[in-house]
Amino acid sequence: MVRVRFAPSPTGLPHVGNIRTALFNWLFARHHAGKVILRIEDTDRERFDPEALDAIMFGLRWLGLDWDEGPEVGGLFGPYFQSERLHIYHKFARELVEKGKAYYCNCSTERLDLVRNELREKGLPPMYDRHCRELGIDSDPTDPNTVVRLKVPLWGKTSLRDELRGEISFDNSTFDDIVLIKSDSFPTYHFAVVCDDHLMEISHIFRGVEWLPGAGKHVILFNAFGWEIPKMIHLPMILGPDRAKLSKRHGATAITEFVKAGIMPQAMLNFLTLLGWSPKDDTEIFDVEEIIKRFDLHGINTSPSVFDFEKLNWMNSEYIRKLTPSELTKRLKPYYIKWDWLKDDDEISEEYLNRVSKIMQERLRKFTDMKSLGRFFFMEPEEYDQKGVKKNFKPIVADRILEVAQRFENLEKWDEESIENTVREYAKQLGLGAGKIIHPIRLASSGLRMGPSLFEMLIILGKDRVVKRMRKAAAWIKDNIME
Ligand code: GLU
Repeated sequence: MVRVRFAPSPTGLPHVGNIRTALFNWLFARHHAGKVILRIEDTDRERFDPEALDAIMFGLRWLGLDWDEGPEVGGLFGPYFQSERLHIYHKFARELVEKGKAYYCNCSTERLDLVRNELREKGLPPMYDRHCRELGIDSDPTDPNTVVRLKVPLWGKTSLRDELRGEISFDNSTFDDIVLIKSDSFPTYHFAVVCDDHLMEISHIFRGVEWLPGAGKHVILFNAFGWEIPKMIHLPMILGPDRAKLSKRHGATAITEFVKAGIMPQAMLNFLTLLGWSPKDDTEIFDVEEIIKRFDLHGINTSPSVFDFEKLNWMNSEYIRKLTPSELTKRLKPYYIKWDWLKDDDEISEEYLNRVSKIMQERLRKFTDMKSLGRFFFMEPEEYDQKGVKKNFKPIVADRILEVAQRFENLEKWDEESIENTVREYAKQLGLGAGKIIHPIRLASSGLRMGPSLFEMLIILGKDRVVKRMRKAAAWIKDNIME
């Protein structure tokens, strides 16, 4: 039975790398009809951040990554929290001490610093000198400095098998005597991870490759207990477009930032899946069922994956296009409210919003693009695109705009045919190409130089609004543009 765990540490906002790890665990389990366990590794009390915990839970729910086991809270499975399992780690640490495989160490921080500094000065790695190793179980466990350390083998090698990378060996002499229980009585990451992976019967460990160096210590610990070692899969590093490790300076990296920017969870899931896994053909867009069906170990790469922000935006635009206009409206509404475009007492109809969604759908790469591209559907333009003004708002244009506004006002029907005919006839009358009339109308009614199909856009805006905006723009030209 496949059993995987996602084991985030709530010490900072979840990075896309953390979420990619969660996703690969989840996809692998779902593919094999296995179980997913969520385990919050909150043993570093100094770095614990409750906001990070909320963001992790939010990110998982947002992507639809569910889990199958955990302590029951109100009829649902909560995650496991390592901070609630201290008694378990203490029991196992004691067991190792009793078997002579671990020991209490009450060296003071000052002593440890001294030893390490001496080694550093000699150009040697700053390790513990194993002073307490032979003192035995009798040293005082109530001393506040006391920690429990593992007796790491002094010579020989420890090997692990990574399912993607093959056999990896570590020289035991490079390992310190691993601390198992810290002086605050919390376990270290290494100790808690091994105890829990054993107790939770984890079959496969998926985690980022940055955890590979520590995995040797886990193997030593598994061996000290005589426990079976789960299969290990270390996922490729994620790089920014400049091929340096992905970091804040590349742009958004926390999952919550992508949510705010208006990336759809389906697009993010699809994108993250391809960040380290490949279907071995050129399919790029797949829904989650399809991914689950195809996801396997063979498709996971070992070479680093580049986080291509442009590709994510493109993928997101593909998912936006799949929405019906009313689905898109539903997703855009919270932004409209946030931007103060919609208020409770507004009389903007659902139908209007859906028409806006429909006409703008193809132009959005993320929901927040609407802020600059679609404001004019809700607000009168406050200014006009500067390049557009230079090209299309010549003084002579003001009267032309006024004339078209008048002809629009006189129209009985406000449909594409009447609007188009009015524009074309007038252009012909002046001996001008239709563009000479169309561009100024677009700028006058939207403030923008580019946008969706003009006639459709004018229909949605409605005759009154369009005429009013055109007159306002004509006045603006007369006031602002010199002959
Ligand atoms: N708690 C570690 C993290 O924050 C998990 C490492 C592991 O999966 O073993 O990523």
